[in-house]
Amino acid sequence: MAEHKARKRFGQNFLQDTRIISDIVNAVRPQADDVVIEIGPGLAAITEPLARPLKQLHVVEIDRDIIKRLKRLPFADKLVIHEGDVLQLDFRSIAGMKKIVGNLPYNISTPLLFQLVEVADEVVDMHFMLQKEVVERMVAEHRTNDYGRLSVVLQYYFEMEKIIDVPPESFDPAPKVDSAVIRMIPNKGRIGIADDFNHLSRMLQQAFQQRRKTLRNNLKEWMNDEDFAAVGLDPTLRAEHVAPEEYVQLSNYLLRKNA
Ligand code: SAM
Repeated sequence: MAEHKARKRFGQNFLQDTRIISDIVNAVRPQADDVVIEIGPGLAAITEPLARPLKQLHVVEIDRDIIKRLKRLPFADKLVIHEGDVLQLDFRSIAGMKKIVGNLPYNISTPLLFQLVEVADEVVDMHFMLQKEVVERMVAEHRTNDYGRLSVVLQYYFEMEKIIDVPPESFDPAPKVDSAVIRMIPNKGRIGIADDFNHLSRMLQQAFQQRRKTLRNNLKEWMNDEDFAAVGLDPTLRAEHVAPEEYVQLSNYLLRKNA
């Protein structure tokens, strides 16, 4: 097959390090009947070993040239190809509890992660290659600089663990940044605790709007000092000092108060 020229606009950095590829596949542990979805299979570096034990593998790919190649692979009959933008994919249209995998195009990783929160109840686990800096923000604890809205929302839904650091040389072409693989497992006990996730999400956007300002300042349109006292939060704190569960309590308190 003719050589494929990597497309920057689709975030194409192809994995070439066989050790990293097998570490990812071993972490996923695909079993014959699993419902596995790979986002951005590209030149099939992960796809091929992932598909080996499976009866079927769903792949989501936007690049038409790559789709043509996927259709010509020796194991193409195992692939269910979803052509197009993963951000438009209705994950619920794929029946069953899903394992989701991907060496993700870094330009869409944040919106994709927020999209996946909505289907957390249909997920067994997810393994993603991401920019290392994003992985660090995802797992950041409160009272650290990396802690933000992404950390709170994702930690509310998932247990997360960084499993491998990946240097730029593991890819072709090499990206400018370091990467890491993260494992995400739905945090079943916590799903449903927030009365209204959209309210929580909007409140977080506001709370972290200006990181140097106090909560009192960032949330002045949402609550007053009496509200802070009612939930036992110091209004002079900054957003990064508040733990995920405290944000959930705060959101629920405001919703109930205004009901
Ligand atoms: N999995 C391959 C590997 O590890 O070598 C390729 C990874 S490459 C970083 C990202 C892949 O995602 C590319 O194949 C790219 O075409 C695809 N892609 C980019 N944006 C996409 C989108 N919005 N929806 C679906 N696939 C996308």
